[in-house]
Amino acid sequence: VLKGTGSGALPPMLEQYVNMRDEVAQQLPHAILLFQVGDFYETFGEDAERTARLLGIALTHKSSKDFSTPMAGIPLRTLDQNVEKLLSAGVCVAVADQMDEAGTGLVERKVTQLLTPGTVTEERHLGADENYLAAVATGDGYALALLDVSTGEFRTAAFHTRVALYDELGRHRAREVLLAPELSGNPALLSDFQTRFAVMLSPGNFAEEASHAELVRTLGEVPATLTSAALRRACGAVLGYARLTQQGALDMVRRVVRFEPGAHMRLSDAAVRALELFQAQSPQGVTLMDVLCQTRTAGGRRRLRAWLRAPLLDELSIRARLDSVEALTRAPDLRGGVRSLLYRAHDLERLAARVATRRAAPREVAALARTLDLLPDAAGLLSAQDGLLSGVRARLMALPDVVTRIRAALVEDPPLRLGDGGLIRDGFHAELDQLRREALGHREWLAQLELTERERTGIPSLKVSFNGVFGYYLEVTSAHLSKVPADYRQVATLKDRARFTRPDLREREREIARLEAAASRLETEVFTELRDALSAHAEALAEAAGALAELDVLSALAEVAVEGGWTRPVTTAGETSLLQARHPVVAKIAAGRFVPNDAALGPGRHTLLLTGPNMAGKSTYLRTVALCALLHQIGSFVPADRAELPVYDAVHTRIGASDDLAGGRSTFMVEMSELASILHGASACSLVILDEVGRGTSTLDGLAIAQAALEHLHATGAHTLFATHYFELTRLDTEFPGLVNLHVAAEEDAAGSGGLTFYHQVVPGAARQSYGVEVARLAGLPAAVTRRSAQLLGALNTQGDDRRLVRELAALDLSRLTPMAALEVLHSWQRALLEGEQEPVGT
Ligand code: ADP
Repeated sequence: VLKGTGSGALPPMLEQYVNMRDEVAQQLPHAILLFQVGDFYETFGEDAERTARLLGIALTHKSSKDFSTPMAGIPLRTLDQNVEKLLSAGVCVAVADQMDEAGTGLVERKVTQLLTPGTVTEERHLGADENYLAAVATGDGYALALLDVSTGEFRTAAFHTRVALYDELGRHRAREVLLAPELSGNPALLSDFQTRFAVMLSPGNFAEEASHAELVRTLGEVPATLTSAALRRACGAVLGYARLTQQGALDMVRRVVRFEPGAHMRLSDAAVRALELFQAQSPQGVTLMDVLCQTRTAGGRRRLRAWLRAPLLDELSIRARLDSVEALTRAPDLRGGVRSLLYRAHDLERLAARVATRRAAPREVAALARTLDLLPDAAGLLSAQDGLLSGVRARLMALPDVVTRIRAALVEDPPLRLGDGGLIRDGFHAELDQLRREALGHREWLAQLELTERERTGIPSLKVSFNGVFGYYLEVTSAHLSKVPADYRQVATLKDRARFTRPDLREREREIARLEAAASRLETEVFTELRDALSAHAEALAEAAGALAELDVLSALAEVAVEGGWTRPVTTAGETSLLQARHPVVAKIAAGRFVPNDAALGPGRHTLLLTGPNMAGKSTYLRTVALCALLHQIGSFVPADRAELPVYDAVHTRIGASDDLAGGRSTFMVEMSELASILHGASACSLVILDEVGRGTSTLDGLAIAQAALEHLHATGAHTLFATHYFELTRLDTEFPGLVNLHVAAEEDAAGSGGLTFYHQVVPGAARQSYGVEVARLAGLPAAVTRRSAQLLGALNTQGDDRRLVRELAALDLSRLTPMAALEVLHSWQRALLEGEQEPVGT
């Protein structure tokens, strides 16, 4: 651990460090131990080098006579910000604090905090988003456990395939993952996992007995829903690890919810990225979440994310959400009222979890009270509502007298720390009131003392003051020293004055200190009782928090719908019809300049082949349809004038050839593996969005793959939108019923100008040509280069025709061809060739 060691034995403090670090390493192998030495947290040896690098701080050396080791340290007060840095670099941190003041001997130290990316609960280390710790085990398929330590949310699911598991993990964006030994020990699986997820991998205890014991300890039993050993092991591992980092307390975890991945629309990780649900592909980009996120509370924001990640399949549930959103869109007063209440709410879910673990500080309890105060009003606003909103109302009202208890006990704005005193209201606790009254009496006596003593001694400038060295004292200027009475005892002499004390003054002072200490102890006691009483209601609090979050999401969706002029979608049995649909994000940014489009998919037209120049708006159109489908299934209105949509079992996307993974796989490889999982996964009830498939390889390969994929999808019956620059594909419409050509309108500008105008308008039929050269010209390619490309393009077009002729020749059935028909075919070929030569594109 400590390299650069000299010959001598380790100094005692470093020995203590090494032992402590060994201990920590048994639990968190790669954690950095921050070791308090006076005003600094220090690291030594290799850890010092690592820490200096990660934090960008100076590396020094701890040296004694015959020993030297690298050392790097941070001042105590910078702990939070540095821990934050280490966590986001994916490093766990252990903090060892000094237990007593530095004296002569070796100071006692203790590990007081274990901080890991997936288990921090302090608000300052967390964003407002959920923070999952995940565990994966295998058995019959894969088992996943997800725990948000900051709210106590605990979910688990089983998966048949690794792809499905990856999708779910990707959606939840865990910050830290525990892999069972059978996974982490398999190099191929491990590296596959690591190329997909840039998360911290930590060791968990997946042993069956340990998991069993952990489940019983946390939940009181092994829940019957954990039907397989893999599920129990994953859940046990997550809990065990969380308990370790929470120093034993896991009270916020009350139950585990087993969810069925099949109950929600399948949405691959690739689709989440391509549709930019949570993360834009360009750094300043706007996401769907940004547009929808009119939520007013952190809990609402987390709930909205959860809804977006898991669109519904059940038509009734979709309708229930839509009903509530619609009710809120129709009642501006209700919506406004709800939203202004929510605006004042604190993060109830996290506060409830803090209360459950009995860790809440006075200010957190006060914030809880302020938030709970809002609930009756919120419930009142919802009194005339039915459906989901009436359920929300019931859960908001289900809280017992918790609020009034806190309100009655706690002052409005309590101090930061428990020991500071002054957090319990006057009149709440008789004994406390008595202590305070007595202390006050003494203080008033002191305040009076100045006047009475001035009178008694005849010294007009006599003063009563206080300082930390000798407490209360009487001060007399030199001119009046002769008048000082005999009961004064001098304690200090200054140049022009002297300070005195009196036995009774000391007496009063001690009494005040005693009373204040007693009051503070009592306050702590009262507060702790209150907090314990609250923790008994943790479940009802969590329910209310959930209801508030749901209300927040519903009213946010209503707000977005009203602002954007969105429409309530109608659920159909298998047809999509969108009138004047807009891309929710692009339309918002482009404001009035967005060109809406219609879209129709269904029996007789389930495969739409979209052509048109680059930059015409093909991707945007594809995504518009996919996003409308997604919005429908989270129960949101959609950006269109009219919308009819079926319930899709999945939205599959393959978009863009340039993005992707630092995982070392080539772009084409990524594209193909995504395509593979789409082709395997798409059903007749899926929506498939493919943009420029085959672009990552040579033209012929690409064309072949694109066509084969298109044919395959066509056969599945999936609703497919296929944007391509392969014009050869547009001829397939004659061969495949249900395949329809569309293109995005663009027009060459006035003769000779060489420019292009985009109308972003999707219209029937195939595009005439690709305009690639025009777009290149627009982008500023030198004229000589674009001229030459136009020439080459002419030649290539002819080659394309050649290829087509060869294909047609091969396909001719000579046994059935009459001489007349043969002549006609020859004629058409000749015409095609001549036209091809005459029609080079551009000038
Ligand atoms: P393509 O996929 O055909 O290359 P994109 O969909 O990427 O084209 O769109 C190109 C640009 O045109 C983008 O900047 C986009 O914001 C804009 N755009 C696309 N569709 C529309 C539309 N319907 N109305 C207005 N602007 C649009």
